[in-house]
Amino acid sequence: MSRPSPGPVSRRLAHRAARVLVGGVDSPVRSFRAVGGTPVFFARGRGAYLFDVDGRRYLDLVGSWGANLLGNAPPDVVRAVRKTALRGLTFGAPSPLEHELAERIRRAAPELERLRFVSSGTEAVMSAVRLARGFTGRPKVVKFAGGYHGHSDGLLARAGSGLATASLPDSAGVPPTIVGETVVLSYNDPEALADLFGRHGRSIAAVVVEPVGGNMGVVPPRPGFLEAVSSLAHRSGSLVIADEVITGFRLRNGTVHDSLGLTADLVTLGKVVGGGMPVGAYGGRREVMELVAPLGPVYQAGTLSGHPLAMAAGLATLDRLSPAVYRALERSSSDLEERLVRSAEEEGVDPFTVERVGSMLGVFFAPGPIRDDRDAGRTDRAQYARFFHAALDRGVYLPPSALETTFVSAAIRPEDLERAQGALRSGLRAARRRGARR
Ligand SMILES: *Cc1c(COP(=O)(O)O)cnc(C)c1O
Repeated sequence: MSRPSPGPVSRRLAHRAARVLVGGVDSPVRSFRAVGGTPVFFARGRGAYLFDVDGRRYLDLVGSWGANLLGNAPPDVVRAVRKTALRGLTFGAPSPLEHELAERIRRAAPELERLRFVSSGTEAVMSAVRLARGFTGRPKVVKFAGGYHGHSDGLLARAGSGLATASLPDSAGVPPTIVGETVVLSYNDPEALADLFGRHGRSIAAVVVEPVGGNMGVVPPRPGFLEAVSSLAHRSGSLVIADEVITGFRLRNGTVHDSLGLTADLVTLGKVVGGGMPVGAYGGRREVMELVAPLGPVYQAGTLSGHPLAMAAGLATLDRLSPAVYRALERSSSDLEERLVRSAEEEGVDPFTVERVGSMLGVFFAPGPIRDDRDAGRTDRAQYARFFHAALDRGVYLPPSALETTFVSAAIRPEDLERAQGALRSGLRAARRRGARR
C-alpha cells in the first residue's frame, strides 16, 4: 500500500516548527533537505517500528542514527529510566550509576582503564583531542575525509587541494587558523599517511579514526589500513583515537578497534552506550586519562555529565547484550542486505552496492567497492531520494540522506523484513525510473 508521506499533520507541524526552530529542526539532516520533501514527525516508537503523528507506521531503519540498538522504547530500559527519574533527575554531584556504567563498559573493553562521561559524541571526541594534545605537547591532528567526529571547530575540516597539511574549514564560522592544525587524508590510504608521518610525524598529537567508516555511508577498512594507522602513529609518538561512537557495542559487546587491527590509546563512545539518552564517553590508558582535571592540567567539565537517566539507560541497555542479540542482529542485517541486492538485480538497478559491516549498511547507487569518500560521493543522490521516498510512502523509514548509514536494530525480526520487502522493492524500482515523483 502506498500513501504519500508525510501526512497532513506532519505537514502542519513542519510549517509551525519552521517558524520557531531553525529550518524546523534541531539537527540538519532531519530536515529532509538531502532527499527533498517535508520531514515526517514522529509521535512514538515501539520495537522495530516508528509511528508518525498521522498514525502511520514505519519500519525503523535509522534507529536514531544508531543509538537505538535494541529498537524503540525497550521495556527494560524505559523501566530503568523511570525508576531513576523518581529519585531525582540530576545532582551535579557523584551518584552510583556513573561508576557502575563505567565498570560495565570496562568489563567489555578493558583498554578503557579510566573513563569520563560527557553528554554527546561531539564532546567526547573534542575532549579526547584536547587530551592528546595535552599529553603529547603537539599541535596537529589527523582525520580522514568523510569521517565525522562531531561538530567541534577543529574537526570541521576538509582536505585542501594543495599540500596535505593545508585543510580548509568545512563550515562558516570556523577560522582557517583553527583547522590549520587539522590534516585531512583519504580513508584507506596508508601511503598518504606514511608520507605525512615521514614529513610531519613529530608535530602530530593524534590520528582520529572510525574503525569502520560510518558517516559516508558505510566504508569498511581495507586490510592493513588500521594496522598502518597505529604503527605509523605510535612510531612517531602520536596517539590513536578510535572513534567508536557508532561501532562501540553495536558491532560486538565492547569495542571493535582491536579486532580490526587498530591499537588505540584513547577511545570515544556514544550512541549505543547511552541507550537512547544523550551520552558520550572517552577513555583509555590510565597515564593519559589522568592528565584530565581534577587530576591533571587538561580541563574538561559538564553540568549534566554522567546524567543519572543516561547512565540508567546505558546500564539497562548493556545488561541486555548477549551473544544471542548479536547473532540476531547479524541474521537480520544479512537478510536485509540480501533483499536489497536481489531486488536491485531484479529491478535492473545498476550500479548498486551495499557495503555492510554487522548491523551497519551503506546503500550506494554507485559501483563498489566503496573505499573512501570519493567512491561514496559517486552515489546517485537523485536515485537515492526516489528510493527513500517510495519506501517511506510504503512504511519503511530509511536515513533521509544518501551518505548516511542504514541501521538494523535487535528489535527487527525476519517477519518485519519480509513485510518490508514490497516497500524496498518498490523503492528500488522508483530509483531506476527517472522523472518519478519528486
Ligand atoms: C554521531 C557521531 C559523533 C557525534 O556524536 P553526537 O552525539 O552527535 O555529538 C562522533 N563520532 C562519530 C563516529 C559519530 O558517528
